[in-house]
Amino acid sequence: MRKRFYLLFVLYWGCFAPLSTFSQPPEVFHLNNGLRVIVMCDERAPVVAMSLFYHVGSINDPLHKSGIAHFLEHMMFQGLFQDTREDFKTIVTNLGGTTGATTTFDYTNYYTIIPKKNITKLLALEADRMAQLSIADERFQKERHVVIQERLDRIEDAPSARANEIANAHFYMQNRYGRSVIGWLHEIETILPHDITSFHTRWYAPNNATIVLSGDVSVAEAKTLMAQYFSKIPQRTVPPRPQEQNPLPDFGRQTLEFVHPEFGFSTSIFYKLPASVAQTWNQYKTRLTLQLLTSMLKQKLNKVFINHFKSLHEITVQSYTAYKEATEFSVSFSIKNLKDGQAMTSVIENTLQQLTLEQNLTEDDLKQARFTLKNSFYETFSNLLDRAKEYGAFLTTGISIEDLNQWESILESITLADIQGMLKDITSPGPRLIAYLLSGEASQ
Ligand SMILES: [Zn+2]
Repeated sequence: MRKRFYLLFVLYWGCFAPLSTFSQPPEVFHLNNGLRVIVMCDERAPVVAMSLFYHVGSINDPLHKSGIAHFLEHMMFQGLFQDTREDFKTIVTNLGGTTGATTTFDYTNYYTIIPKKNITKLLALEADRMAQLSIADERFQKERHVVIQERLDRIEDAPSARANEIANAHFYMQNRYGRSVIGWLHEIETILPHDITSFHTRWYAPNNATIVLSGDVSVAEAKTLMAQYFSKIPQRTVPPRPQEQNPLPDFGRQTLEFVHPEFGFSTSIFYKLPASVAQTWNQYKTRLTLQLLTSMLKQKLNKVFINHFKSLHEITVQSYTAYKEATEFSVSFSIKNLKDGQAMTSVIENTLQQLTLEQNLTEDDLKQARFTLKNSFYETFSNLLDRAKEYGAFLTTGISIEDLNQWESILESITLADIQGMLKDITSPGPRLIAYLLSGEASQ
């Protein structure tokens, strides 16, 4: 037990361990240069996770230069720091931490988890690479090989990833979400050091970033530390986010067929989420409704397919949740020893149609889905780094912190009618892309 006379001190500098998800709701503040900071205080262990989001991703890659956002992510780990002449990862490892990064269509996320006693060193390093990036030519050349190898391993030599990249390009047509996040191979080869540094100067401004600190750090402490290390970086004018065409042109119903000896058999149906969903995309309720619907469909389709095909299978129902221009929804299904793709496609489509009818999705189904989703939230929020990433990803793509902090009551407020309404809208006529992965000799 803490003694009473420590209480003031504790309230000011400390925070308490969470009882359910958060004992204190995460708080937000901004520095004078526009940097947004979220603090999730949790002093169960003397560690801090930091998740830094730049509001820039592969959709901001210049035309014919796909892959710059991702290449920059790699180069952010290649700069050498003055006093040690070591790179970011080496220094963080020597400080007892771990670090990594991810590039998506919409944002680039750098994350580190470190003992609390070394938090000031981490903030100094992170502020340094936000302020400037200098690239040594030999490190750039070496890293280009790493990036190209990553593309070869993950895409060129992975037939289903390759098929997915091509299907995505078809689905989004001229829209920026149709481009490759890692970059098309021939375009990565043309990227120059100057492309990387000017992309950094253009987009990596404090007013285009969000930092989530999660762990043994209070709001007051975070305010002092962040001002100390980041407020000297000047605010810059950042170009507006490109506006993509929404909705997509209605290309009707298109079918793609990919053949490779490694494929079993699978089919995917891509739906564009309708305008009714896109319009309220910045409300957390819409995204949670979609998550509940996804979970309920998975359960239902599993039952239908077992009855229908009497065979082992794997089913995926997923959605890409970023900005409204990229709201897509897909159902994928794979089954061994079944060759009739059209039969499978109609079973999926008919089932979805049936489920829009009132009696076919029940309150019990909703209860089960809500329970599953709640559990997954509790799991995410019990991990310092996972929750920092989760909050950051939603905040970066338009959800407010007030909404996020009320996730539990929003989840409770979603009704069966909300879910059925969304499913009806998704299955109403609109562009559909159907992709088959078939086993066989590749055509070239
Ligand atoms: Zn990479």
